[in-house]
Amino acid sequence: MRASEFVVIGGGTVGAAVSYGLAKAGAAVTLLDEGDIAFRAARGNFGNVWVLGKGATEPAYADLSRRTADDWKDFAAMLEADTGIDVHYRRPGGCFICLTETELMQRATMLEELNRKASVKSRVEVLSREEIAKRLPAVGPDVVGAIYSPHDGSANPLYLLRALMTALIKFGGRYRSHSCVRSVKREGGCFRIDTDGGPVHCGSVVFCGGLGNAKLAPQLGLSAPVRPVRGQILVTEKVKPFLPFGVSFIRQTDEGGCLFGESSEEAGFDDATTLPVLRDNARRAVTVFPLLRDLRVVRSWSALRIMTPDGVPVYDQTAETPRAYALSVHSGVTLAPFHAGAMARAIRDGGLDLNLVAPFSPKRFDVQAA
Ligand SMILES: Cc1cc2nc3c(=O)[nH]c(=O)nc-3n(C[C@H](O)[C@H](O)[C@H](O)COP(=O)(O)OP(=O)(O)OC[C@H]3O[C@@H](n4cnc5c(N)ncnc54)[C@H](O)[C@@H]3O)c2cc1C
Repeated sequence: MRASEFVVIGGGTVGAAVSYGLAKAGAAVTLLDEGDIAFRAARGNFGNVWVLGKGATEPAYADLSRRTADDWKDFAAMLEADTGIDVHYRRPGGCFICLTETELMQRATMLEELNRKASVKSRVEVLSREEIAKRLPAVGPDVVGAIYSPHDGSANPLYLLRALMTALIKFGGRYRSHSCVRSVKREGGCFRIDTDGGPVHCGSVVFCGGLGNAKLAPQLGLSAPVRPVRGQILVTEKVKPFLPFGVSFIRQTDEGGCLFGESSEEAGFDDATTLPVLRDNARRAVTVFPLLRDLRVVRSWSALRIMTPDGVPVYDQTAETPRAYALSVHSGVTLAPFHAGAMARAIRDGGLDLNLVAPFSPKRFDVQAA
């Protein structure tokens, strides 16, 4: 295989966005992906472009999520102009539905605190039962209120991935599937990457392998502290539109099907669906919208989130190996414009912008020995 200026390892939403950004900026980039047997959150996620509640423990993450969500409209338009693919980006807002007064109060307090610390202030409305029922007449009798924000939205994650890949190829990038990376090392002034398809040499390497980063990034002294967190999702048959904006764990697609679930479980690398969790997901969804009870479930699946210890992205680069980068992110759909934009430009120019990424360094996990 020929040498490439940049090699991105991992063809999920993060790797595809970075590769697209690099290729569009004129860099020679090759994207290596393991293939169908890999864990791929990009193909099993919910598709939310979500801000509400993001960054509760790290204001810089709240700011990054909000700024990037604001960039999504132009990003979707740019992708469509580049590829002809409409990724179904919509921004009607989103809400947390609350089933008890305590939950409503706790969420309201948490979001107020988060907004106070964030540099980019978000509009957040606390809605009584009557107010949410006016906006979403289908809510059930157990709903006591909701928290609404106009900044949230969604996109079709599969169209997004397809558009990113199509654009990558259009701008001269190369995509190699079935290229599981086994090892990465420095060789002379560049990197040697051994894959199932043979060795590849490059000047810069970007680890975007999702859960695969945990094993790969440390080979160059980079950190990717990620663990799998399983989410299970159900999809119903298509129905007339009743959900004009998303609820954190329920959304209706443009085609009419409803996605719900998004449970959260520590199940190691087991990505099977389980009946008890699917049943609980369905129960909660039916409590919020009783009309869902009569719908047929047409599909269900589970996928593994790429979770860092605090849920905040980890972006790593070291002085010892300056042209290697590791990006480990849970919200890869939401952050796609950032990865394709500022992040790709920083990588092309040879270094992460420390002002931008310092709060996301893995150094935050270093604890002093007692
Ligand atoms: C249930 C669920 C719901 C989610 N909902 C949302 C949401 O609503 N909004 C949002 O923004 N995000 C959501 N996410 C997260 C989102 O899916 C991920 O952040 C996104 O997919 C990007 O992840 P990634 O590209 O880092 O990893 P992945 O998508 O997992 O891709 C990693 C890629 O690396 C490749 N790879 C791994 N190891 C190797 C190797 N050794 N060699 C070569 N290639 C390798 C794999 O083949 C894979 O294609 C959700 C995730 C889950 C699981």
